[in-house]
Amino acid sequence: LMSSWVVTGLMLPDVGSVQHLSTGLLGFAMFVLVPNRVERTTVVVGAGFVVWLVGHAFLHGVEPGVEPWQAAVSRVLAFTACIAVAWASATAIGAAQRDAFLLLSHERETNGYLTTEISRRKAVERALLERANTDPLTGVSSRRYFLERVDHELGRARRSRDPVALLLIDLDHFKDVNDRYGHAAGDEVLRSVSATFREHVRTVDVIGRLGGEEFAIVMPGADTELASEAAERVRRQVSLLRIDQPGGDVRPTVSIGVVDCEVWTETVEEALRRADTVMYEAKTSGRDRVVCG
Ligand code: GH3
Ligand code: MG
Ligand code: MG
Repeated sequence: LMSSWVVTGLMLPDVGSVQHLSTGLLGFAMFVLVPNRVERTTVVVGAGFVVWLVGHAFLHGVEPGVEPWQAAVSRVLAFTACIAVAWASATAIGAAQRDAFLLLSHERETNGYLTTEISRRKAVERALLERANTDPLTGVSSRRYFLERVDHELGRARRSRDPVALLLIDLDHFKDVNDRYGHAAGDEVLRSVSATFREHVRTVDVIGRLGGEEFAIVMPGADTELASEAAERVRRQVSLLRIDQPGGDVRPTVSIGVVDCEVWTETVEEALRRADTVMYEAKTSGRDRVVCG
């Protein structure tokens, strides 16, 4: 705009109306292009117009037949109108920009609040899910979640053709522990025994508490031989536990039944029933032992 204004001045030095028009447009444009500097622009453009009007009058004189004061008044009025319209436009644009900025800030604030709220709700959801999937006393999987996991592992085994072993574990004479040392001692034994399970199986194995003093472990990728070794290790480690109680040390033992899941033909419940039968053999043949079915 500034360049076209200079070029107009150079090319058409004698045509006052063209030069005045381009000067007015330039002044107008300065307001619109810098709407957030209205005061400064008013001063700059106003001073520029005065210099321009005086300079033009000196260099080119006024149109023939027009008194100099008439020319001066009409030009001042024209440029003042120009500045007024431009000033009003710039003020309106500035207000609109401020409104837009306020809306944007508000939107950002709302988004920030929503993001925090979503993360909080996700955390609550995770905590609820965790609570529903975990047995509160021992920290191993709840019965429902364990069965879900076994079902999932059976599906995976059908695709990969890997074996899946299932261990059913029952504490021996646990009723006696409760009777002799109290229910709280029994709970402590359940906690220690489950901690021992966790320490002596792989991270891919899932431990569940099926109820009372009965636990199960699913071992994806393990055949009966590997699972029996793991079961024997677990049995031995449990038998080495000494749980210190006011009435003396509790020495828990477990009976374990190990089965290889028939992934194509068997449901979780059927596999568990088979494991239970095998575990019962361990009970009847003297307890504190592993029987593989
Ligand atoms: P067996 O060797 O034949 O398995 O004998 P057992 O005494 O372990 O079996 P039984 O089924 O007769 O007793 C299980 C006991 O487990 C009875 C019940 O009071 C106790 N029990 C079940 N759940 C809990 C629990 O959450 N905490 C405690 N402390 N005891 C429990
Ligand atoms: Mg028992
Ligand atoms: Mg039992």
